[in-house]
This record gives sequence, C-alpha cells and structure tokens, in this order.
Amino acid sequence: MALIEKRATRALIHYENLLYNIHLVKKIIGAKRKICFPVKANGYGHGSAEIGAYAVEAGVDCLSVATLQEGRELRDAGITVPILLLGHVLPEELEYLISYNLTPIAGSLEYLEVLEKRAAIADSIIPLHLKVDTGMSRMGCRLEDAESLVRFIVDSNALELRGICTHFPVSDSCIQADIDFTQNQIEIFETLIGHLHAEGFDTGLVHAANSGGLALHPDSWFDMVRPGLALYGYEPVPRYPLKVKPVMELNSKVILMKKLKKGESVSYGRRWTAPDDTLVGVLPVGYADGINRSLSQKLRILIKGKRYPQVGTICMDQMMVDLGPDPDVRLYDDAIVFGPDPEGNSAADLAKMLDTIPYEITCGINVRVPRIKA
Ligand SMILES: *Cc1c(COP(=O)(O)O)cnc(C)c1O
Repeated sequence: MALIEKRATRALIHYENLLYNIHLVKKIIGAKRKICFPVKANGYGHGSAEIGAYAVEAGVDCLSVATLQEGRELRDAGITVPILLLGHVLPEELEYLISYNLTPIAGSLEYLEVLEKRAAIADSIIPLHLKVDTGMSRMGCRLEDAESLVRFIVDSNALELRGICTHFPVSDSCIQADIDFTQNQIEIFETLIGHLHAEGFDTGLVHAANSGGLALHPDSWFDMVRPGLALYGYEPVPRYPLKVKPVMELNSKVILMKKLKKGESVSYGRRWTAPDDTLVGVLPVGYADGINRSLSQKLRILIKGKRYPQVGTICMDQMMVDLGPDPDVRLYDDAIVFGPDPEGNSAADLAKMLDTIPYEITCGINVRVPRIKA
C-alpha cells in the first residue's frame, strides 16, 4: 500500500546531491571505468526504485542488490541496466533470477552447479560474475579454487563469465596494518587476474573497490567501482574527505507547542526538567521511525536554520525539543533531525553518537516514513 506522503515526518531525498556525488566519483575514477551503484536494503534506506532509476539516468552503469525481491522491485520500476545480485540465494529462488534478469555473483562450485541446472531448465544462459575471497571471509571462493571455477564457467554452455570481483574488510581504515592488508588483497587479486588472462580466459569486468577502496586505494579501481556509502554522501575516510554531499534528510514538523514552567519534567523517565519557564515543541518522530532511543538528549534539531536541543527521552512516535521562552518558531515549521545542512546533525554525527556507522542510520529509517524528493 502506498504511503500517505503528507505525513509531517518525511525522508527528503536530495537527488541534486546524488547527482553531484556521481559526477564526483566519475571524475575521480576517469571515463574508462564503470560505476556499480549498490541499492540493496531499499537503497541504503533512500528508496531503491526511485534512487536506482535516478542514478541510472545520472550515468551509473549497473546496480546491485542483496535479495531477489530487491532486484524485482527495480525491474518492475522499468530499470533495464544490469543488476548484480551480491549474495547467494536458495536454489528454489533461481527461477526469479532468470525471469527478472539479474546477474548473480557466484563463489562456489555448488552454486555454479545449481545455476547451470536452472539455466538448462529455463533453456537460457545465465551471465554471472565470479567472486574470489581475498580476506573478507564472507562470500567468494578460496583463491586456490578460482581458476578451476573460471574453467567450469567457461566450459559450461549455460553460464557466461561477465566479471570477476573481490571485497575489502578494512579498505576504509588509515591504520598502517589495515592499509597493508588491503594492499595485499589487491596484489593477490591482481596476480590472479594476470594469471587468468595469461591462461587465455576472458574474465569480463574486474572489480573490487567499495567506498573505502575508492577513497584510499586507487589501484583497486580496476574496471568498475562499487561505492555505496560515498554515493549516498558519507565520507568513507573522514581524514581524506572526497567532499561528497549527504542525500538523505530526515525532516519532521513542530506538531504541537506548549508552555512549560520551571521545574516541570518532560517524557518517560522524567530525565529532563525545565531549568526555567520555556516552550517545548513536539515532533512526531521517534524510535519507531528509526531514531534510536539512545540518542535522547544528544540531538540538535534544526528549525529555520537555528539549533534547538532535543530534551527528554525519545519516545516511539515523538520527541520533544526545548525551544526557549521566546522562539522564532511557528506551529508546523520544518524540523530537521539530520541531513546535509552543516548547521544541523548529519547521519554520520548520529552514527558517531551511537558508536556505529552511517549505513545503519539511513537503513534504519522505518518504512512508515515516506521518501520524498527534496
Ligand atoms: C554493500 C557492498 C558494497 C558497497 O559498500 P560501501 O561500503 O557502501 O561502499 C560493495 N561491494 C559489496 C560486495 C557490497 O556488499
């Protein structure tokens, strides 16, 4: 069911910032390299079909998803570029892989065999990428198995090798040991690719870089980069900023204003008491919308360009803001919880307060919050 978009609390999507970030990444990697834009997890919470379509229009070459359902939503929205399915799926899901024309990334003989069988049943050819594990220890085959898997794909009438890739666990870290680890992964991967080419294999697109690789390891860019975080506007390596711009703004409105007398307390647990007579604003946004309760009393809410402290415990559906005794705030004014405006908090600030990463903030914005073009 479509959401009622008039809700006071909305995730405003700044497409102009996404466009800016895409152009920035293109400039960094050069015209010969491609961009795969990850739109898994509802486009990191931004709304996958809309942001995917926009990114394609803005010039990204392909998209990637984590589940078949995510791929299906993109195809249903009319997106025709290649869509990489990053993880393995169950054998019984594979009919949808073919009908939605998704490109799997395979990392085991068992998976390749299942894919081959399914392609034969559908009387079609499945184009795919092979993933090689060089240190993430998640998806991907062991390095020593890579050549035999490439041979299996190339020898199969039902499979077609379109790419080969790997993934980095610490490419966003400036610690020397992590830089060395990533450099070693790149070297291992490069050696493998060189060997496969020397053996006469056409590996298709070679790719490895996530946002960290993009920011810190130019020799990991190969034929294509896969930066999610950076394109959504967060710095993968704050010490070496790419100068990207955040795409999401969580915007609510002052839905009620009321006077509070000195000494009166606010919200569950009564953790805040008015030190003086003041006005309190209520915003209809809470932890059920994805603003973690542990952020209580840490946020600076931006209203008409001015910052106001969030006070009292964040509730399921509301939070309160201390507006002071004589604010320049009117009922129904916009109230920014986080967003690209440097005066207010960014999702990266919220992540830092919670000892987590910006991905978790934007992915955590609940489906009941409508995503709207800013
Ligand atoms: C999610 C994902 C990415 C993007 O990572 P960022 O850190 O957001 O740049 C790249 N590659 C794979 C395999 C992923 O799963």
